[in-house]
Amino acid sequence: MDWAGATIHVMSHVVHYGSSVFEGIRCYETPNGGAIFRLREHIRRLRDSATIYRIPLRHSIDDLMQACLDTVATNDLRECYLRPVVIRTGSRMGVMPDDSEGAVETFIVPWVWGRYLGDDALESGVDVCVSSWRRAAPDTFPSMAKAGGNYLNSQLSLLEARQSGFVEGIMLDSFGYVSEGSGENIFVVRDDVVYTPPVASAILPGVTRNSIMQIARDLGHEVREQTIPREMLYIADEVFFSGTAAEVTPIRSIDRITIGEGRRGPVTRAIQQQYLGIAKGRVPDPYGWLTAIREEEVAVR
Ligand code: PMP
Repeated sequence: MDWAGATIHVMSHVVHYGSSVFEGIRCYETPNGGAIFRLREHIRRLRDSATIYRIPLRHSIDDLMQACLDTVATNDLRECYLRPVVIRTGSRMGVMPDDSEGAVETFIVPWVWGRYLGDDALESGVDVCVSSWRRAAPDTFPSMAKAGGNYLNSQLSLLEARQSGFVEGIMLDSFGYVSEGSGENIFVVRDDVVYTPPVASAILPGVTRNSIMQIARDLGHEVREQTIPREMLYIADEVFFSGTAAEVTPIRSIDRITIGEGRRGPVTRAIQQQYLGIAKGRVPDPYGWLTAIREEEVAVR
């Protein structure tokens, strides 16, 4: 579809009520051509998000995966970000959605996206703050769903952080424990143990988070999913964000308190190198995380 023609009606339910579920996926250039990182896990989460919000998904996981591969190939892209989105459209006014055939639409936008948190973020690290905005309480918005409306909360946190001169905000959950960034999960390293908040701390269960836990264990670290009090951030040896867009981004200060040596630490560096090495096909992928783009299989060009 042409860029200019990719429009929706102003009366679409999603415009008024934030009723979308979506994904963010990266395709990397490898020595053997483009490859999508953990495609099945992302599409599975898209289905989970739709299930949570009772949005009828009209395509199978395999069809959505194929559509992502076709989108990269037909756009002649190698390295890109993919944004599959499922929206409630319809033209009925009112909160009650119309989930009949045709009132739910699915699209995939390919996007060339560089470093999400700044050009030298992956090497130098970023300065962040603890946000005054909390993640939603567990019986309010379902944080396990990657849904459009949830990002109003993320926007408040990110805007506050940026306006105060920080790159990103870390939100606490409704009980005061560390949750996540506006678009990233968080990891804390102390005495070589790698900690990350559990799913019950109002986080989105990140695909990158899951990959990092696996990599960290295989690098010989103990990995603990546990509730993290705010002050543990300040006394950590290393803290970093993980996410498809942010990849593995070191955090060098929080609330102007220097973390560790104030630069990317050795544990973060080793995990980052392994993560990007696998994603970019530079080191062997023992986990089967890459799906190759096979241009010859693309039906429509
Ligand atoms: N938390 C939030 C709120 C996010 O938006 C993202 C980005 N999708 C993440 C965590 C990281 O998830 P993933 O590693 O699957 O990209």
